[in-house]
Amino acid sequence: MLWTLLKIILFIAIVVGAVFGLSILTEMDNLGVLIVMGREFVITPLIAVVGTIVLLLVVWLLFRIVGLLVATLRFLNGDETAMSRYFDRRSERKGYEALGEGMMALAAGEGRLAIRKAERAEKYLSRPELTNLVVAQGAEMVGDRALATETFKQLVTDDRTKFVGVRGLMKQRLDAGDTETAMKLAEKALALRPKNAEVQTTLIGLQSKHEDWAGARGTLAAALKAGNLPRDVHKRRDAVLALAHAREAMAEGQVAAATRDVAEANRLAPGLVPAAVMAARLDVEAGRKRQAAKAVRKAWDQNPHPNLAAAFAAIEPDETPEQRLKRFRPLLAKHAGHPEVRMLEAELHIAAEDFPAARKALGDLAEAHPTARSVTLMAAIERGEGAEDRVVRGWLARAVTASRGDQWVCSNCGHVHEDWAPICANCETFDTLDWSEVRQSQAALAGPAQMLPLIVGALEDQSEPEPEEAEIVEVTEAEDTPAEVDPDSPAPGAEAAAQPEPEEPRATQN
Ligand SMILES: [Zn+2]
Repeated sequence: MLWTLLKIILFIAIVVGAVFGLSILTEMDNLGVLIVMGREFVITPLIAVVGTIVLLLVVWLLFRIVGLLVATLRFLNGDETAMSRYFDRRSERKGYEALGEGMMALAAGEGRLAIRKAERAEKYLSRPELTNLVVAQGAEMVGDRALATETFKQLVTDDRTKFVGVRGLMKQRLDAGDTETAMKLAEKALALRPKNAEVQTTLIGLQSKHEDWAGARGTLAAALKAGNLPRDVHKRRDAVLALAHAREAMAEGQVAAATRDVAEANRLAPGLVPAAVMAARLDVEAGRKRQAAKAVRKAWDQNPHPNLAAAFAAIEPDETPEQRLKRFRPLLAKHAGHPEVRMLEAELHIAAEDFPAARKALGDLAEAHPTARSVTLMAAIERGEGAEDRVVRGWLARAVTASRGDQWVCSNCGHVHEDWAPICANCETFDTLDWSEVRQSQAALAGPAQMLPLIVGALEDQSEPEPEEAEIVEVTEAEDTPAEVDPDSPAPGAEAAAQPEPEEPRATQN
């Protein structure tokens, strides 16, 4: 407002000044008379002023012409760029200014502006390998997929920006869910830049998603060689890939190849539970019991896991419960006090029908850390010791609302898996399955079991559950009691059920 006012005042002042100056000039006496070729020219002050301005202009033009002449002379002398340099310097400056503004716009998140500036810069610079980079990013920013694709394709045509173009196209295919094409592009990108960590990771993920285990192992080796992976991480992932390869071979009936690959996986990562379990199983089938026991024990030393206990039990399927308990002693001694070991020992004692020993082994686990498995074990112990049905049912009712304990959980998306797999079934990420407990709120667990007290009360007069035993000790509640926990409640070895949430008890009306 004030600025506009000032401008108006300034404009009026200039006009008044000019008029005033003009009137002074016209009123002044003539400066003199110029005689050129016999003719007289009267020089008024006005002509003098105008003449001076014209003279200045002529001098400026002369300088420009001299500059151009110098450039022309240089050009004729062999310096070909001198001419174009003379003309280009100005537009180059403008071009870089526009490019800089475009990059600023990118950083500020203004995609459209960035594209406009880059297009302007391209007009002055003619350097598509630079300006297209800004256009592509701007297009991605504003979600203009078609423009981004077109720009990436242009980048591919230039050797200097080929990698950027291929990578951009790869990302676009990934976003569109076209993993097939994305994988081919990732391979192409990696051929251009074999050491690029990001593309390596992407390619390994895609190859494992497409179950190209051998290809993924190759890429993993390249990542290690390029120094993009710590050696221990490489070892672990290589083991997982070898195991996945072994499983595939096994599914196709190629036992020899499966044995070789699983041995490799077991050697690379002795603590990888599914590898140890599979190695032990193949060893048992081939009659190598000692080797099987060694594989299991090595993995158990790193972390006790029910699958390992089951594999260890399967080495001697026909032994008595007492013999089994004796054979398990070294395993139990290794991680004394660990919940897994306490539950395993309790299960072994229950199988041997030594209920007081089972109670002692379990200790306060069912109270301190109630899980479906520990609470069900408590029910079996009470039942074995001849407690009242009410007590047994009380424990079983608690099992419904208890946590499911440790399960194979994807550390990326939290999806719970029944069995270990190299790829998460939900988010399809590679090697993300951990043996851990899902954190659930008490409300979420209790939800389906709100009516349990009623059901448990109504069952008072029904037949009592009969604990059964199978494999090592399948602590299963008899199928003829309708409103109990799911029949396949946790058994040793069998990983503590895979249902993400407790199942609704089947209430009966009869
Ligand atoms: Zn996942």
